[in-house]
Amino acid sequence: MNKKIVFTAFCLMIFLSQCAKTNDGIIMTVNGPVPSGEMGVTLIHEHILVDFIGADSISYNRWDKSDVAKVAIPYLKKIKQLGCKTFVECTPSYLGRDPLLLKLVSDSTALNLITNTGFYGAGNNKFIPAFAFDETADQIANRWIKEWENGIEGTGIRPGFIKIGVGSESLSVLHKKLVIAAARTHLNTGLTIVSHTGPSIPAFEQLEILNREGIAPNAFIWVHAQTEKDLSSHIKAAKMGAWISLDGLNDDNIEEYVRMIKNMKESNLLGKVLLSHDAGWYHPGEENGGQFRGYTALFEKLIPRLRNEKFTKSEINQLLVLNPAEAFTIRIRKI
Ligand SMILES: [Zn+2]
Repeated sequence: MNKKIVFTAFCLMIFLSQCAKTNDGIIMTVNGPVPSGEMGVTLIHEHILVDFIGADSISYNRWDKSDVAKVAIPYLKKIKQLGCKTFVECTPSYLGRDPLLLKLVSDSTALNLITNTGFYGAGNNKFIPAFAFDETADQIANRWIKEWENGIEGTGIRPGFIKIGVGSESLSVLHKKLVIAAARTHLNTGLTIVSHTGPSIPAFEQLEILNREGIAPNAFIWVHAQTEKDLSSHIKAAKMGAWISLDGLNDDNIEEYVRMIKNMKESNLLGKVLLSHDAGWYHPGEENGGQFRGYTALFEKLIPRLRNEKFTKSEINQLLVLNPAEAFTIRIRKI
């Protein structure tokens, strides 16, 4: 164990002992633990870089960290000006997760950045490393738990959540295995399970697996829940305790988001809603990283619209500050 890891573990202990007193938790950023109460306004699902080349060909040689940082930093400075303090970077391993890049960007912007552990099964398993097809759920979980305990790939940078991805239909055997691995990682780490899901069928199937593994639904974020057009499913999953991530916000779909958020408010479930853009990102192999979508629609379009709809300051604070803090606080959530 190197000195840095010992120091990080020591800080974590101090934080956790304080948490016990204040009943407050921590999140894990690329620069170490931060009290959940200091997360501030948080974008819960965004990207700085994504590379769709596939698990068999991905490599850090495909991009230059300083080039990527140069492109991304102005977009991050912009959201910082708009009040954002924490940025959850959802790019999974084998899709361009780059902890050192995120640390570079975090150090240049003073934003909290959070990275993840896990494997992404959506996209016909193109982003799952070959060894994972044959390994058991426990073997896969052990890899993820090690990243939490020791840091990712020798960087000392620790994941702040588990990111998995499943297909949009009923879960395959392989994807069930990923969910079980995520469940067992959660039980050993307290990291929240953030699952690229889409429609409600795989969402409820995952909640059922978590239930069998003894994990409470509030350890689960239903990513891309906006894909499910039957809004009663959002209500049903939120009433179970799951987090409903409405994370594809852009300048052209504000009204759809207002409708989905109001649907949750009418059932007194604003406390289960998470909002983000799923925007960015640098595309390796494209000229200057290709088209980069900014992260401002929430601040410049959605919030003013919610104010028009008589959302109070405290309701907006709940959506942007309290819910992310509650969702990403590291703690084991058993049934
Ligand atoms: Zn995403």
